[in-house]
Amino acid sequence: MPHRRILVTSALPYANGAIHLGHLVEYIQTDIWVRFQRMQVNDDGSPVEVHYVGADDTHGTPVMLRAESEGLTPEQLIDRVWKEHDRDFKNFSVGFDNYYSTHSPENRALCEEIYGKLEQSGLITKRPVEQFYDPVKAMFLPDRFIKGECPKCGAKDQYGDSCEVCGATYSPTELKNPYSTVSGAEPVRKSSEHHFFKLSDPRCEGFLRRYTQGENHLQSEAANKMKEWLGEAGEGKLSDWDISRDAPYFGFPIPGTDEKKFFYVWLDAPVGYFASFLNYVKKQQAVGKTINADAFLRPGSDTEMVHFIGKDILYFHALFWPAMLEHAGFRTPSKVFAHGFLTVNGEKMSKSRGTFITADSYIQQGLNPEWLRYYYGAKLNATMEDIDMNLDDFVARVNSDLVGKYVNIASRAAGFITKHFDGKLRAVDPSDNNTLAATAVAMGSADNIATDYENREYGKALREIMRIADIINQRWDKAKPWELAKDLARHPELHSVCSDCLDAFRILTYYLAPVIPETAAKALTLFGVAGQPRWNDIHISPVSVQPYQHLMTRVDPKQIAALVDANKENLKVTTPPPSPQPSPSKGEGASSTAEAATISIDDFTKIDLRIARIANAEQVEGADKLLKLTLDVGELGTKQVFAGIKSAYDPATLVGRLTVVVANLAPRKMKFGMSEGMVLAASGDAPGLFILSPDSGAQPGMRVK
Ligand SMILES: [Zn+2]
Repeated sequence: MPHRRILVTSALPYANGAIHLGHLVEYIQTDIWVRFQRMQVNDDGSPVEVHYVGADDTHGTPVMLRAESEGLTPEQLIDRVWKEHDRDFKNFSVGFDNYYSTHSPENRALCEEIYGKLEQSGLITKRPVEQFYDPVKAMFLPDRFIKGECPKCGAKDQYGDSCEVCGATYSPTELKNPYSTVSGAEPVRKSSEHHFFKLSDPRCEGFLRRYTQGENHLQSEAANKMKEWLGEAGEGKLSDWDISRDAPYFGFPIPGTDEKKFFYVWLDAPVGYFASFLNYVKKQQAVGKTINADAFLRPGSDTEMVHFIGKDILYFHALFWPAMLEHAGFRTPSKVFAHGFLTVNGEKMSKSRGTFITADSYIQQGLNPEWLRYYYGAKLNATMEDIDMNLDDFVARVNSDLVGKYVNIASRAAGFITKHFDGKLRAVDPSDNNTLAATAVAMGSADNIATDYENREYGKALREIMRIADIINQRWDKAKPWELAKDLARHPELHSVCSDCLDAFRILTYYLAPVIPETAAKALTLFGVAGQPRWNDIHISPVSVQPYQHLMTRVDPKQIAALVDANKENLKVTTPPPSPQPSPSKGEGASSTAEAATISIDDFTKIDLRIARIANAEQVEGADKLLKLTLDVGELGTKQVFAGIKSAYDPATLVGRLTVVVANLAPRKMKFGMSEGMVLAASGDAPGLFILSPDSGAQPGMRVK
């Protein structure tokens, strides 16, 4: 293996809200990986070079308006939020080498350089865009700052992109009686020139095809997603990316526009990774340490750049970001690792249920951050699946694994060594029949556990560690050391058993160090070990042990109840303002969609889902989004449905297809006629709309349940 040099990032949390447990999934996931890498050495014994940087994502309309509503300048607001975020990360041992801000001189210079290079390459274009404009506030309105009546069901006070009552999605221009949530004024349509990054350029498309499908830059599920987004060659699925916003805006002005145009927050946010790294390099230089920044930021070196992100921002990190870097003279990411969202007790985090838990409230309630780190670690794997934090399971798992299995070994064995052997450990001789061979068992899994950490299969690694802890505890019970202690003649045996168990405990401590660094550091001081732990040090057996000191308490379920209560009250007063779409407050990933209340199976069976054959599909004159479908629903006869799928489907390709329809939806009179049902389709934050198809064999009229 060559010398590994790795730059690692976590996504930047948005600077208008508190860090919560949903955010922490990613920071803990990244930090475990970083801590594992820091324990590794190259073949020649030199440490692996790893730099972990982050920053607050500070720009955009929500920060600007939030600051205004609090009577602050944006700079004052982001300064306060930065301090809160920095505190939260430190409390959870998220070990950034540098935590910075996108509102920095380094970031501005990098953005200008990137924009300039793209412009020189002919990859910037300008064209007018018509948008809603608040005439009182004199600003263009992101969709989320426009409300009005739903064009479909007439519900009042709905956002400009979707209706929370009927679930319809639409563009803000379709809202009835729209108003600006900033001033209350009726918005007007206004055109303005926008700057675009030409993602549709064949150079970008060609590059992205190679990049997203080659060299394992992405997880396979993400690479497949990219295939969908890229479409077939020549299909022209990629659209240019609107990278400018009009003043007033909190951000960096686009050079040559007299501060009338600013870079869209999503352009400068990922550049913030580089800015934070450059700032870090500068600080290191000031203390006499040299890092070759170009080796990490420019193409042509063997350094690695690894981004940890939530799956909701894959589009930005796997398409816009690499395409931008490739054509601006920078290196592209080696790996983009996306994770799923956090649910609590099987549901989206909820303010009303008290499960929208902030990092600070967790600390304020006196809970140990390492409990959460361990629990997340036990749940995490390398996929984009969501992970669930079941609060009862949290209590049970932490108490059983960390306290009952792991800490227990040391607390039992160290007492005997201190009391009977003056703290001296007996060298473990593998041929000695009196030992439990616990050390050997623990040692035997070192490579597998390392591989699991490297591959982000933390759950697998922790299961293996706890399997070893189980074996040690079982052998301990079988050896009955408490009886050996009563018989002086058997003290050598007692000495061996306890020494063996303690050494095995020490090895487990190294294995757990990436996940529970504070507890591991405390445990290693029992053996006189301090400083950066190294994986290879498992082979250095200690000669003595300090008197056992308490390492970790059990979780009391009452603490969890108090935490949930605290968050029920807490968040009533601190509801953050709405975010624009696509949300720059990406750290809110875990809560980026409206929470769904649970329903009973009875509720579900009220919905009559049926297989339908699309007998006919046609355009509707005067409708932007709708197609008129005639559905054959078997025993239920024929139904006419208006479906908002025009953007995604050519009617001719739909005829004859089977799909799924809600057959008992109350018929609704629309401008173009009656709609007698609803066709189901999937969509996400990224472009694209996908109607459902049953497996072959399904017949029109069959129930779906
Ligand atoms: Zn509606």
